[in-house]
Amino acid sequence: MTQDKPAAPPIEAARAAAQAAPEGPHVVEFRNVTKTYYPGTRRAFTAIKDVTFTVEDLPNIGELIAIIGPSGCGKSTVLKMIAGLEPQFPPSSGEVLVLGQPVGAPGADRGMVFQEYTAFDNRTVLDNVAFGLECRGVHRAERHARALEWIRKVGLDPQKDARKYPQQLSGGMKQRVAIARSLILNPRILLMDEPFGALDPMTRLRMQDLLIALWSSSETTVFFVTHSIDEAVFLGDRIYLFSNPPGTIVEQAFAPRPTVPAVEAHAQPEFTERTRYIREKIAKMEKEAGRV
Ligand code: ADP
Repeated sequence: MTQDKPAAPPIEAARAAAQAAPEGPHVVEFRNVTKTYYPGTRRAFTAIKDVTFTVEDLPNIGELIAIIGPSGCGKSTVLKMIAGLEPQFPPSSGEVLVLGQPVGAPGADRGMVFQEYTAFDNRTVLDNVAFGLECRGVHRAERHARALEWIRKVGLDPQKDARKYPQQLSGGMKQRVAIARSLILNPRILLMDEPFGALDPMTRLRMQDLLIALWSSSETTVFFVTHSIDEAVFLGDRIYLFSNPPGTIVEQAFAPRPTVPAVEAHAQPEFTERTRYIREKIAKMEKEAGRV
């Protein structure tokens, strides 16, 4: 007889327990992080200032942290710092810790999905999805079997789509490949920078549902940058609202996990109330910045 994995405790209880008595290192911690581009020149520009937050390690649960705020407030800068990508990394001051260690460089524990599709045009879907395993030296038969499984999980057809090349795919299909390429490596952290920003509205909602389906049973912590308030509220367990540049966190909000598809969630009064609250905050900031 096989025993089922015990059900994860509700996220709120797990978060309270982790905050009271953390068992291990935090997943990500920013301590007074500031980033100034072109320091010491006339072009010096501070993108984020004094950003401080902690994402605790919740046993068996990966949280989804949505980052939202006015454009240019440093959302991507934060994400790329966690990834260890230059020139966003290193910070001008402050500390960025991942799993308790200062970030030094990109690593296999952090996967990334961008708005622009990033894959090899000369590789099939199968070989794109299997790429990370190939880099890890997994032999051909095994990596192909695992890649086919992921192609199926992200809603593509292992028979028809696996042999296609990226240019034969729609925008939504390409992002499915991008998600499969990242999740096949089972990263501890998945960094998503406006991944659905270029998709048409209905495809975008379907991709949100797909992400929830794939991720809610995993232990991957997802950082999701978006400029869509609906997307942040639907997907986010917690939402970091950033200020006008130089960006800093002005508010941290928590939202319940989706229990219905995005289209249905959008019609719920609680959802409308949450989005209205954030929309008003952002509108106020944009007014203060003289953008309206
Ligand atoms: P967001 O994702 O919120 O739109 P970004 O983090 O992309 O914001 O950028 C914040 C600010 O920092 C912007 O004004 C942008 O022009 C600037 N910036 C971002 N990356 C660089 C870079 N590599 N060099 C110089 N300035 C940058």
